[in-house]
Amino acid sequence: MQACSLQGHGQGAGTLRRMHSTHSIRHCKTCGGATAYLIPADDNRERAVCTVCATVHYENPCNVVGTVPVWGDQVLLCRRNIEPRYGYWTLPAGFMEMDETLAEGALRETVEEAGANIELQPLFSLLNVVRAGQVHVFYRARLIDTRFAPGPETIEVQLFREHEVPWDELAFKTVRETLKLYFEDQRRGQFGFHCADIG
Ligand SMILES: [Zn+2]
Repeated sequence: MQACSLQGHGQGAGTLRRMHSTHSIRHCKTCGGATAYLIPADDNRERAVCTVCATVHYENPCNVVGTVPVWGDQVLLCRRNIEPRYGYWTLPAGFMEMDETLAEGALRETVEEAGANIELQPLFSLLNVVRAGQVHVFYRARLIDTRFAPGPETIEVQLFREHEVPWDELAFKTVRETLKLYFEDQRRGQFGFHCADIG
């Protein structure tokens, strides 16, 4: 299995808890032996290789998936009840799990964090966050009603028109970029699919 780098694992469930860093695997996940970073034969970059059983531990980017839940001209945001970025506002999103599709992950995160009842719409944004070893993907979503129930990771859930969005209190650049693109498309009256790199 190829796993994402899991430094900081266990600080919370289901949201952006995992910080990417290279050279972070110190022990073999198979036998517990010490690892060393070296370039395996037929490879072209350093990997964590077990000094005991020779297992190679690959580190690859993680997928973060979420939604832009919409009610009329308002967008639903969640205020984070967990670190990192405690108290800041975000779109419902979190790490994709092993047993689900991208769409299932987006739906699950929206239910877990916002308790929102949504109908998933087309993919809206894909943001490469190379520095963090992550790819963030957001679907548009239509709220079926305005009954929300903040989950354990959320302090409060609220609908915002564009001029009401707390732009200076957003948790992540990918959320800011996605909201900016969303409101631009809303003004045009036509929604596309957007791809961007976040520095
Ligand atoms: Zn080993």
